[in-house]
Amino acid sequence: MAWFKRQSGELDTSGEKKVRTEGLWVKCEGCRQIIWKKDLEENMNVCPKCEKHFRIDARTRLAQLLDEGQYETFDAELSSTDPLKFVDLKPYSRRLRQAQEETGLKDAVINARGKLEGRPVIVSAMEYAFIGGSMGAVVGEAITRAVERAAESRTPLIIVSASGGARMMEGVVSLMQLAKISAALARLDQAKIPYVSLMTDPTTGGVTASFAMLGDLNIAEPKALIGFAGPRVIEQTIRQTLPEGFQRSEFLVDHGFVDLVVPRAQLKGTVATVLKLLAA
Ligand SMILES: [Zn+2]
Repeated sequence: MAWFKRQSGELDTSGEKKVRTEGLWVKCEGCRQIIWKKDLEENMNVCPKCEKHFRIDARTRLAQLLDEGQYETFDAELSSTDPLKFVDLKPYSRRLRQAQEETGLKDAVINARGKLEGRPVIVSAMEYAFIGGSMGAVVGEAITRAVERAAESRTPLIIVSASGGARMMEGVVSLMQLAKISAALARLDQAKIPYVSLMTDPTTGGVTASFAMLGDLNIAEPKALIGFAGPRVIEQTIRQTLPEGFQRSEFLVDHGFVDLVVPRAQLKGTVATVLKLLAA
């Protein structure tokens, strides 16, 4: 093995922050305490000291929400065709392949059916580790299918958002998904099937601008970043300093953009109660 020769030949310039999880200990960004990873996992990936909600992947989310962690998945075969043959620092096709290898998913969402406290539900859970949970044609189509499946089977729908917004590598095709999903949700509403939106850290851009804010109830995890444009863009546009906690769950509840902030440990119970009330 050479000491000074780069092995992979390629620098990772994606700039995406990666959480190193291979160690036994994790440093909490909230309180700077060192936490034993096992303690963190047993506490639903919420810091036992300061209650910071760590990001979790789509599979962990589904296992936490659904009874006995059991669920059946759908639409897992959908895969992007790279309609624009987009290239930035590297070809989008290569980015896709890499994300697919890392996550074992074809794109940034898992559609599932399972039971939540005994009640059948359809859940779309977004995967932030897949190109920032961005929404291209595949995420748009998968979520639309979940909405349509909910309408046809008259089953309540839950969408768990974790997304940087529309996927820029698919340009206008990404933007079209906002309208497509919103139209499907309007039909779900006409059919009087409940839809609960769960917003987790982060829920931004085109996802906030479409289905994340369209729930019959919009629930957020504590201190999640939720917004459309980033704070810097807004500050430069309106030439004002933004208040503290702007675009965090608690601020958004106070200003009527979000209905409830619910800690992860109570999320399942709260959604069960909401569905029970909406079904009554
Ligand atoms: Zn902490």
